[in-house]
Amino acid sequence: MHKHTIDNFQSGLVWFRRDLRLQDQHALFLALKHCAQVYCVFVFDTDILNPLPRQDRRVEFIQASLVNLDEHLKKFTQSSEVRLITLHGSAVQEIPSVAELLEVQAVFTNHDDEPSSLKRDSTIRGKLAAKGVSYFDFKDHVIFERSEVLNQTGKPYGVFTPYKNAWLKKVTELDLQSFDIRPYKAKFATLKPAQLKRLPAQMHGLEDIGFELTNLKELGVHTGIDGGEFLFKDFLKRMDLYNETRDFPSVKGPSYLGVHLRFGTVSIRELARTALERSRAGSAGAAVWLSELIWRDFYAQILHHHPRVVTKAFKPEYDNIQWEDDKAAKKLFAAWCEGQTGFPIVDAAMRQINSSGYMHNRLRMVVASFLVKDLGIDWRWGEAYFAKHLIDFDLSSNNGGWQWASSSGCDAQPYFRIFNPTSQSERFDPKGIFIYRYLPELKGLGLPTLHTPWLAEPMELLGAGLQLGKNYPHPIVDHAKARERTLMRYSVVKATKS
Ligand SMILES: Cc1cc2nc3c(=O)[nH]c(=O)nc-3n(C[C@H](O)[C@H](O)[C@H](O)COP(=O)(O)OP(=O)(O)OC[C@H]3O[C@@H](n4cnc5c(N)ncnc54)[C@H](O)[C@@H]3O)c2cc1C
Repeated sequence: MHKHTIDNFQSGLVWFRRDLRLQDQHALFLALKHCAQVYCVFVFDTDILNPLPRQDRRVEFIQASLVNLDEHLKKFTQSSEVRLITLHGSAVQEIPSVAELLEVQAVFTNHDDEPSSLKRDSTIRGKLAAKGVSYFDFKDHVIFERSEVLNQTGKPYGVFTPYKNAWLKKVTELDLQSFDIRPYKAKFATLKPAQLKRLPAQMHGLEDIGFELTNLKELGVHTGIDGGEFLFKDFLKRMDLYNETRDFPSVKGPSYLGVHLRFGTVSIRELARTALERSRAGSAGAAVWLSELIWRDFYAQILHHHPRVVTKAFKPEYDNIQWEDDKAAKKLFAAWCEGQTGFPIVDAAMRQINSSGYMHNRLRMVVASFLVKDLGIDWRWGEAYFAKHLIDFDLSSNNGGWQWASSSGCDAQPYFRIFNPTSQSERFDPKGIFIYRYLPELKGLGLPTLHTPWLAEPMELLGAGLQLGKNYPHPIVDHAKARERTLMRYSVVKATKS
């Protein structure tokens, strides 16, 4: 697994990014192995942070997770002097300058394959090289990355099932092994007085980087290494049932580990190892959950091989589609964002993301399909909205999910498959538990009309204290007509193909 030839150094710096943990952290492990002294740093990168709103659940998640990482560092080394250094500035400047200040000979970090991150890292690598500092980066975020899983003709897979089969065939114990840092406790460096003077005296709080608290704590979101461990342990009790429960948003079925995978407060190797072992022991739930982790690898390698998907349809002919983008479309989009479409399942889902930064996977598919195929709006608008609001936002999976829903992606659903929001609602929230939770204004409405308030009898509406258009919207679109329009809209795809 360790393909790099790494010299031994007097001192090295580990730059934490989407790997905010101590155990089983590839770059940290190799830095400890190859350096006599290791410093740890995280940069609150202003290039990323400046455009964000001042309240952002992700920034708060990161900050809280760094505090937890620092606590673990102190506990692990049994030293209050060992600390995680946090910096606030552009990483392109901060990393070379802190490397100089600490007089390290090498910087160790883990791959981040988003196009803008690759560009940043290559600039930093160059700046470090100019100062004679080595730069090493490693795979840590996924089990297989880049070109590690290719088809028999040496090309990347564009279809999931053969990719998954190849993934399962390739995976060995070695790929899932943890990087154990226990032997290296004494190698964490403490700062010298002269260095201390030139570094921030303590870790940055949220306000120090210009951000404010969100409702993250109220929501009970578990942060940091401790949070990830808690959620994974909790999920272990229900992993075997995942295949049966995962599609019902009112049921505690999934793991809620997305944000922890995003920021690396859990190890993908530990998760995949556990799922594979249980799946081999016959657990259908574990097998399906492992598949989801493999989807994550799949989309990451798609982004690596086809970085154009960030702005373009994976299947180019889908960029010939004419999306609605006039004033009326903007109004429809605003109604979708606010959870005011008149379709309870869509509205409940949008209110979930708006109030918590999370949305259940089934509902991500439902609302994405609704935006693209009922409202005729470009999937990129929805993708951007999710990117802004999802606490577990990951470029590759989000883009993959949206291109899947809009049929423009690799292995996407066919364009003529159009989710019916009402039947999705009846099927996946049959008792309306999820809808009632997020749409209290519909609490007086019984079943089955809860799924279709526009079909309620006037007396029923009156009894429920509902006035459509007043305290709950009329449906903003007629699904049957929208379906016809979508088939027309997508006909350009057929035309360009033939
Ligand atoms: C339109 C759309 C947008 C999405 N955007 C994102 C995103 O920005 N970030 C993100 O991590 N996932 C995204 N997903 C995938 C999926 O919805 C979430 O990963 C999942 O809901 C997170 O909840 P969980 O951690 O409880 O998942 P679980 O069901 O417990 O799954 C475990 C993990 O597997 C991975 N995973 C699960 N499903 C998928 C999938 N379809 N594709 C890729 N990875 C998957 C995630 O890392 C997830 O945390 C998107 C899906 C759709 C349809």
